[in-house]
Amino acid sequence: MKLAARIGQVPPSLTLAIAAKAKALKAEGIDVCSFSAGEPDFDTPAHIKAAAEKALQEGKTKYGPAAGEPKLREAIARKLREDNGLCYNAENVIVTNGGKHSLFNLMLALIETGDEVIIPAPYWLSYPEMVKLAEGTPVIVTTDASGGYKITPDQLRSAITPKTKLFVLNSPSNPTGMIYTPEEIKALAEVVVENNIWVVSDEIYEKILYDGAEHLSIGAIGPEIFDRTIISNGFAKAYSMTGWRLGYLAGPVELIKAATTIQSHSTSNVCTFAQYGAIAALEGSQACVEEMCQAFAARRQVMLDRLNAIPGLICPKPDGAFYMFPDISQTGMKSMEFCNALLESHQVAAVPGIAFGADDCIRLSYATDMASIEKGMDRLEKFVREKT
Ligand code: PLP
Repeated sequence: MKLAARIGQVPPSLTLAIAAKAKALKAEGIDVCSFSAGEPDFDTPAHIKAAAEKALQEGKTKYGPAAGEPKLREAIARKLREDNGLCYNAENVIVTNGGKHSLFNLMLALIETGDEVIIPAPYWLSYPEMVKLAEGTPVIVTTDASGGYKITPDQLRSAITPKTKLFVLNSPSNPTGMIYTPEEIKALAEVVVENNIWVVSDEIYEKILYDGAEHLSIGAIGPEIFDRTIISNGFAKAYSMTGWRLGYLAGPVELIKAATTIQSHSTSNVCTFAQYGAIAALEGSQACVEEMCQAFAARRQVMLDRLNAIPGLICPKPDGAFYMFPDISQTGMKSMEFCNALLESHQVAAVPGIAFGADDCIRLSYATDMASIEKGMDRLEKFVREKT
């Protein structure tokens, strides 16, 4: 079969592949410590499930508007105004099948052949692939641990060419867990405005912050940057709703209309009754988010201390999200070799940093219970000591 050329350039998602391998080993009865999935281990809060169940019982089981239930679009716009200081209305919002789908819609609506999209590395692994599927060119800007894995305004400026259309900002970051301070966000916004490019701010981890860290949404800085900003967000991480497939994109009406057209010919509306769960997530008590963050904070401290006690690993302290991104270069292994050997010999699943554009690192998710973290760290320590 002769498949379309575009698919030849895009590998399948490595994080999903590793998570599947770990699950398959578990299904065989093997005791695997899995740090591979970017997925909270908590159940979806009861009031969110109850709202979706109620909608289901009430017969909210039909096709709905492609851009989402009007009540949910309203609730999202209100959240963006109140939480993030972004003056959006419902018409600025489209409900999507997850944050991944939001970004994919955006790339299809905005990027055309030859357009360049600036992506700081380490990056969430789907960004470059989505750009390629939209026939654009990902321009990867490498950052390192000494700079907190953050792109500087000078690096951004130097990467911009006449072909640059979009800059992808992700704070808190997957995979590093780093966040940009408000000052850093302001400095990057200046470069975006000066050069008249677009910025998409992927804020899916905005609620998962530690030690009083502050999240500033780039579009809230002022009217000029607001006009050049697109927001991507979703319910998966903050409300433990990964399987619900619910996200949203917010931005200028023209863009949202374009994304709605794409959606109307591809997925149509997001599952109707699930959208009622999302309304409850936004309008209900936010105590569930706080409780999950507290659990993540305790796990973060344990994993960080354990990692940094292993000779040969260096791990910066993340400020948000639920990932550690230790440097493994002192072990003499590259990330793929490290992760394969770790899974095979000690049954610990981690994701090779090469998937995120950083082959000297591995990603470990601590969105798992404390006992698994302790056991997995024992195994990791043994593995590294044996190898070095
Ligand atoms: N953006 C980032 C940085 C992510 O880590 C993820 C999920 O892992 C997503 C977007 C997409 O999330 P979802 O499609 O599950 O809403």
